[in-house]
Amino acid sequence: MPPSPIPVYSYSDDDVRNLRMSLSSKSSSSASMLTSQRSLENIRHECPYCRRQFRRKHDLQRHIRLHTGERPYRCDNCSKSFYRTDALVRHVRSEHL
Ligand SMILES: [Zn+2]
Ligand SMILES: [Zn+2]
Repeated sequence: MPPSPIPVYSYSDDDVRNLRMSLSSKSSSSASMLTSQRSLENIRHECPYCRRQFRRKHDLQRHIRLHTGERPYRCDNCSKSFYRTDALVRHVRSEHL
């Protein structure tokens, strides 16, 4: 007698049907999650220059500097200006260290 393959599922047909039923009932309750995601999209902050949208106001403010050319972070060593702190840090590390 040849060895029979190890059964992966020990479910009967009825068990599988019940499992599918419970799964489909769960997915209907996730509809509230979808609506909350939609309301999140409504409070997105849009760039007035290029219509790009940002979830956080801070990200939009940082992005707008690209359009206005505002560079609030200045290097103390050579008075070069940067619009991001990490750009300034990278400059200081590569130029003045
Ligand atoms: Zn923009
Ligand atoms: Zn510098």
